[in-house]
Amino acid sequence: MTEMAEQNVRDEVRAFLEANWDPNRSLIEWRNILVDSGWGAPHYPKEWFGKGLPAAMSLVVDEVIRDFGAIGAAKMGIRVLAGATILAHGSDLHKQTYLRGILTGEETWCQLFSEPGSGSDLAGATTRADFKDGKWIINGQKVWTTSAHHADFGLLLARTDWDAVKHKGLTYFILDLRQPGVDVNQLRQMNGHASFNQVFITDAVIQENMRVSELGEGWKVATTTLMHERRGADGARRYDQKIDRPERIYQEYNEEIDHQLAPYIWYPQRTGRVDLLIEHAKAAGRYEDPAVRQEIAKVLGLAKSAEWTARRARAAQQQGKPQGPEGSIGKLAASHVARASNLAHTKIAGPNAMLTGSDSWMDGTIAEILVSTPAISIAGGTDEIQRNIISERILKMPKEPRTDTDRPFREVPRNQVT
Ligand SMILES: Cc1cc2nc3c(=O)[nH]c(=O)nc-3n(C[C@H](O)[C@H](O)[C@H](O)COP(=O)(O)OP(=O)(O)OC[C@H]3O[C@@H](n4cnc5c(N)ncnc54)[C@H](O)[C@@H]3O)c2cc1C
Repeated sequence: MTEMAEQNVRDEVRAFLEANWDPNRSLIEWRNILVDSGWGAPHYPKEWFGKGLPAAMSLVVDEVIRDFGAIGAAKMGIRVLAGATILAHGSDLHKQTYLRGILTGEETWCQLFSEPGSGSDLAGATTRADFKDGKWIINGQKVWTTSAHHADFGLLLARTDWDAVKHKGLTYFILDLRQPGVDVNQLRQMNGHASFNQVFITDAVIQENMRVSELGEGWKVATTTLMHERRGADGARRYDQKIDRPERIYQEYNEEIDHQLAPYIWYPQRTGRVDLLIEHAKAAGRYEDPAVRQEIAKVLGLAKSAEWTARRARAAQQQGKPQGPEGSIGKLAASHVARASNLAHTKIAGPNAMLTGSDSWMDGTIAEILVSTPAISIAGGTDEIQRNIISERILKMPKEPRTDTDRPFREVPRNQVT
């Protein structure tokens, strides 16, 4: 991207905002104008609500919109993965039907991949899709489904062929969650929050035109979703900030953030934030303690290397390069930072670190951080799985011995979920 090209984009976006931005519009009305202009998702193709610009230019556009005091397209939650997957693999009908609602924030998505018997081994999914009378009938159970309790649609991986080997019998669909037969139950986590759900699916219906992959080719499409997920979970997580202004659009925007971020609100507390460590060390009167300072310095070093790895991954993505190992390394680094930060927190708080509730030091904040940390090394692929990926794909070490990849899935021994 030349400086000239970037300046032209900045000028064009500013001119568009000067002509169209009005904080007294409703959020949805404004986002529709933005999406129609192509500046909501400038890295999307021109025919699909974008400008066909490189992803790096998209960041420039976001910056101009933010500096102007305006609001950009909706970019929180699983909708980002849904948008990227539909753009890469969806039909024109899918793009026409869903991309606008994804960008305006009017529709919310969830990812229906994990099951009680298949999380790390996603390709072992047993939720079934059977083709009957021109429609797909879905039966099964999904679990750990973030945001399903307020999602309109789900990215669904389901088994359509039990006689194929496990990676070849899966098909990728869009499931409308607002139908009978989809039963969403919130799960309470040990940190007290309830961000994910179990989803029971009984004779739910998907029309044939809502199949995203070719039959039995769902794994390929799922890989696109997972690639975007890992890149987003690599320690460079960013949250939209509320805007403290009275006009209608800002109020609606702040409400949207509260609603959308509710399932994620505890994430920032646990991802090895050095600023929190310093704040807590000062509050506990341990800021001068050499042992505490040493632990904080260690976390800072780790956090910086995780952040820079994440930035490298993002830079590669912006240049349109295919996913490299940085996603796995960055994700592993982020969970390492979180654990190092836990150690520092326990040095700061001592036995108080274990206490929860209003009687405890800092209202149980430290205990909440400690019990929230395991999630970061599980969500989006566990640390062990990232290590397998790194050893096989980067270090070229021998693959794990597998006994289930070359026989029909029907014959693969597995736990039965009743
Ligand atoms: C905060 C959070 C949000 C999530 N959101 C979603 C969501 O929105 N949608 C969704 O579909 N899923 C979601 N998940 C599920 C997540 O992707 C799975 O929990 C994860 O992939 C691990 O699968 P599992 O829980 O079945 O663990 P298992 O696969 O049963 O693993 C148990 C343990 O065995 C280890 N293990 C398994 N296989 C191997 C191996 N081959 N080599 C070495 N060790 C191995 C694992 O690393 C782990 O330590 C979420 C999870 C969390 C924590």
